[in-house]
Amino acid sequence: MPSYQAPLRDFRFVMDEILDYPRHYAQLPQADEVTPDVVSAILEEGARFTREVLLPLNRTGDEQGCRLEGGEVLTPSGFKEAYAQYVEGGWPSLAGDTAYHGQGLPTSLGMMLSEMVCSSNLAWGMYPGLSQGAADALRHHGSVEQKAQYLTKLNDGTWTGSMCLTEPQCGTDLGLIKTRARPDEAGGYLITGTKIFISAGEHDLAENIVHLVLAKLPDAPEGTKGISLFVVPKYLPDAEGEAGERNAVSCGALEHKMGIHGNATCVMNFDGARGYLVGEPHKGLACMFTMMNVARIGVGIQGLGLMEVSFQNALAYARDRLQMRALSGARETDKPADPIISHPDVRRMLLTQKALAEGGRMLVLHAAQLADRVEGATSDVERETVETELGLLTPIVKAFLTEVGFEATNEGVQVFGGHGYIREWGMEQYVRDARITRLYEGTTGIQALDLLGRKVLMSQGEALKPFTKQIHKFCKAHEANDAMAEFVMPLAKLNAEWGDLTMAVGMKAMQDREEVGAASVDYLMYSGYVTLAFFWARAAQAAHQALASNPDDAAFYRAKLETARFYYQRLLPRTRAHAEMIRAGSETLMAMQAEDFGLGFAM
Ligand SMILES: Cc1cc2nc3c(=O)[nH]c(=O)nc-3n(C[C@H](O)[C@H](O)[C@H](O)COP(=O)(O)OP(=O)(O)OC[C@H]3O[C@@H](n4cnc5c(N)ncnc54)[C@H](O)[C@@H]3O)c2cc1C
Repeated sequence: MPSYQAPLRDFRFVMDEILDYPRHYAQLPQADEVTPDVVSAILEEGARFTREVLLPLNRTGDEQGCRLEGGEVLTPSGFKEAYAQYVEGGWPSLAGDTAYHGQGLPTSLGMMLSEMVCSSNLAWGMYPGLSQGAADALRHHGSVEQKAQYLTKLNDGTWTGSMCLTEPQCGTDLGLIKTRARPDEAGGYLITGTKIFISAGEHDLAENIVHLVLAKLPDAPEGTKGISLFVVPKYLPDAEGEAGERNAVSCGALEHKMGIHGNATCVMNFDGARGYLVGEPHKGLACMFTMMNVARIGVGIQGLGLMEVSFQNALAYARDRLQMRALSGARETDKPADPIISHPDVRRMLLTQKALAEGGRMLVLHAAQLADRVEGATSDVERETVETELGLLTPIVKAFLTEVGFEATNEGVQVFGGHGYIREWGMEQYVRDARITRLYEGTTGIQALDLLGRKVLMSQGEALKPFTKQIHKFCKAHEANDAMAEFVMPLAKLNAEWGDLTMAVGMKAMQDREEVGAASVDYLMYSGYVTLAFFWARAAQAAHQALASNPDDAAFYRAKLETARFYYQRLLPRTRAHAEMIRAGSETLMAMQAEDFGLGFAM
């Protein structure tokens, strides 16, 4: 069975030596609560909980999956007990609003815990993960009564949440939804329709499930402008606010799927279920975006968590497995062969995993600081500035980290050779589990359109500038430092090229809108590699600084420098291919008639 140790040393390096978390926390409104001791205690207890409680359930959860019996969904053995321990430990309320049973700690702490949960048991982690998104949507858009009723229960974990958007005829294009909401005499609405692929739509972990449902009112305008958001509980709250009468919402079927078997993916039927409007009529999509933005970063963290655990296990195997002698001569002469970690190609795979996971962690912890700052902003200008940067980075966190997450988990299988393909070792589960992360919460293609079309080009490139300015500033500050030249010079060049490529696509798009779609995924990947290069340069600089003081754990810092070099020399050159493909434009993609694609097999 795979093992997992939360990478606490690496968390500390990123938090203390790169992103200055102590100062960041000291500047937040919760400064008095989020002391260094509290942060350490949360990280250490999170590491223990995920290793001891969640990790042992990962494989059995995959093998057993969920079952639908008499309309009830039964989760794999141990999931319910683990959830009870999670609630008992106060984890659901960590970053919740103090007015509604929350502990009010910064969002970033929840994100750190989330990485550990995703590494140890992704399928289990999706149950509380969806509650978090539901709670955020209600916190921002719910009425006072809705907050008192639902937010309190979501924060203390006695109820969980779900997010009901997708229908058989629409996933990406929510303007096509058919679920209807009809006003009833009691001042609420009756919701009728079918939602599919609903994660955690039904299960046995909590007393009640709070569904957030997109539906259309009778007078709704066509398309996405006519969508409203409703809260639809599985059990209607009674006079005491507890789960009361059963609502007309049920799970019609469970999907059989490639991975995350322990998470229930449900067909949800709403048969005149009682629901309550959240926010204004026809403005549901904007409310849902609150939930989706949180969820998108959450999915990027899923990619990160899976990379980390796959790397840890591939590394242990590569140190142990003996095959062939090293090309330059035997390394371990007392053994019949050398460990496979001696071979350059195995090292390439391990370093790819390590560089992407540790680079991804720096990006996520930076985004997490931005999320804290949005919450703690003291002026509209400050909030808007931070939101712009977080808005730019969100599709990169979501799509880049899940694309490379899938690659890294695949490399994990490759390090194990044929044994990686055999279920017993657990490595193939990470690949199957990682595959969905590129799809849900908006596919990579949709995230790429969001980044290039909505965020960068719609703002005439303004959304990109504050981030590229930070990179520019860093490069300027270290340009005279010879030890940093190997990082700063290529980074400065790529940073300038990022702006040039944006301009080039923007110009072409003025003639032909298809240019945006043609460039978008390569643009996103290019942006991801440059973003991680910025963080790896910062890691290298921090490592140089630490090594100058002769630290006890010099090996840690040397490994950081070596990984940074690997990233720059072996992964960053991928930007060349992406830049070429961005420049190639839309012609080759759009020239062929749709009916000509299949001429080779036309009957
Ligand atoms: C296991 C699982 C769990 C899920 N959980 C939830 C959940 O909890 N709640 C929920 O509401 N949904 C959930 N989903 C649904 C998921 O979010 C959608 O499947 C996803 O958004 C894609 O929608 P679709 O499947 O309809 O694909 P489509 O929208 O049909 O897309 C098919 C392909 O076309 C591409 N495409 C579509 N439009 C464009 C465009 N304009 N430009 C470029 N490319 C385009 C897409 O990128 C994709 O590659 C889940 C799905 C799965 C499989």
